[in-house]
Amino acid sequence: MQRKKADKLKKLWRNKPCDHPSFDRVYVLGDQTRDVACFRCGEVFSPAEIQELAKKYSDRVFVFADPSKHKNAFDDGPEAA
Ligand SMILES: [Zn+2]
Repeated sequence: MQRKKADKLKKLWRNKPCDHPSFDRVYVLGDQTRDVACFRCGEVFSPAEIQELAKKYSDRVFVFADPSKHKNAFDDGPEAA
C-alpha cells in the first residue's frame, strides 16, 4: 500500500490495540520500500521490527520475516486480487 494510505489507516485506527493480522509492502509513490504496514491499523514496520513480530507471533506465517528474500511477494498481492 502507499505510505499515505498507511498513515490514513493509522489515523482512523486511533491507537487501539492491534495484533497486526496481515501486512502489505509500503510504497512511496511508485517505489517499493523495505518497510511493511499492517492492513488493519496502518502501523509501519521496518525490516528489523518485522523480525521481532515474527518471533512474537511465531505461530503465524510471516512472508516478510526477511523482506530481502521476498521482494516480489506481493506482485500479485491482495490489492490486485
Ligand atoms: Zn496492526
